[in-house]
Amino acid sequence: MPDYISALDLFTIGIGPSSSHTVGPMRAALLFAEAVDAKGKLSLTSRVSVKLFGSLGATGPGHGTTNAIVAGLHGQTPETCNPDDVLTAWDKAIESSSIELLGHKISFSEKDFSFQPLIRLPKHSNGLRFQALDANGDLLLEQTYYSVGGGFVEADHHIHKADRSEVPYHFSSADELLQICNRENKTIAQIAFANEVFLHGELDIDMKLDAIWNAMKLCIEEGLETKGVLPGYLAVDRRAADMAEQLNNVSDASEVSNEWLQAYAIAVNEQNASGRRVVTAPTNGAAGIIPAVGYWAMKFKDVDSKLIARDYLLTAAAIGSLYKRNASISGAEAGCQGEVGSACSMAAAGLAAVLGGTVEQIENAAEIAMEHNLGLTCDPVGGFVQMPCIERNAIASGTAVSAVRLSLLGDGSHKISLDTVIETMRQTGLDMSSKYKETSLGGLAVNVVEC
Ligand code: SF4
Repeated sequence: MPDYISALDLFTIGIGPSSSHTVGPMRAALLFAEAVDAKGKLSLTSRVSVKLFGSLGATGPGHGTTNAIVAGLHGQTPETCNPDDVLTAWDKAIESSSIELLGHKISFSEKDFSFQPLIRLPKHSNGLRFQALDANGDLLLEQTYYSVGGGFVEADHHIHKADRSEVPYHFSSADELLQICNRENKTIAQIAFANEVFLHGELDIDMKLDAIWNAMKLCIEEGLETKGVLPGYLAVDRRAADMAEQLNNVSDASEVSNEWLQAYAIAVNEQNASGRRVVTAPTNGAAGIIPAVGYWAMKFKDVDSKLIARDYLLTAAAIGSLYKRNASISGAEAGCQGEVGSACSMAAAGLAAVLGGTVEQIENAAEIAMEHNLGLTCDPVGGFVQMPCIERNAIASGTAVSAVRLSLLGDGSHKISLDTVIETMRQTGLDMSSKYKETSLGGLAVNVVEC
């Protein structure tokens, strides 16, 4: 039985700008530092060398990978780190020529990191190889990790994971999920909640879902108030705060509810691009869509905030688990259809649920939302998660709402199933040239003049 993918796996509170290039590498670096310590080699280590392969080697620096790895070696986690410390971690390590490997001071030079964009390790295009070396340069420990999207990390060696084979409701396709809902006379959110309670306990899951939704709301609210320029040489202006100022001048907010939806998404993605605290949903590049659609439902559809923190998030997560299990949520593996497409589909499912849709209408909304993201490439200009990512989240938020409107006008019956669309996304990702999979070697990334 494949492992159940929990809502707490898909929605993790972390930092921007990228789940696969920032959150995952930070976790991998921490896992490596802990492994060095567990083998009793910490005090013998005088240097750590890091090789970044494939997409990480191509766009890592623009995605904050170097900062994240240094912070992870220091012992920081995406959940609890101070974003300001992470943003300066690389520069400080160069300035001081040192790193604190879990508190043990070792020497550091820029040359300890090497970038191999043209080498793809067999398991995944986001590979990281760490080596701990002693004062003579002899190898103490080498480990290879993969940042497989959404902040998830895998390795060549075994990583201990909790056994999840006993959850009450196992499903590995949308079809199975719908069958369970109909057999048990339960909603998707109720099925997902029962599994989460089994894994984490009712108190814990309640607390964590509240924390996730609060972090999403805070991210929108802070983003709507923050002006300035995004990090990086592209000098992209932040615009969510200006949008909010203009929209606040419209006396009937409902007339501009679509514009507010876009402003919410842009606010989150600007926070993400600035390396601030965001919720991976299911990735950081696509982190704006699920919060924006939920916030919009609260503001413009009078959906209770508690319902967003439960039914909306749990339904979205149940659908997200199907993308993670049966296709990919990684831009480096499937292009942007895997990131923004999956998030759009998850948001559509969640919104259909809180607006009273049947399980069939929810599945239909999720299917429509992905169907019209199929083939979407990943081509971030300059390797920064800014263009087209930020605006793309705004547009995909609108697509999610449109998909729900369409599905709620029907009775849920339709020709193309969500499972078919997920499989089509997987195949399209396999066929897609690596130029369009988070390498910045094609598309907008090579056609926009960088100045
Ligand atoms: S283009 Fe899409 S997949 Fe690529 S970094 Fe941006 S949001 Fe992520």
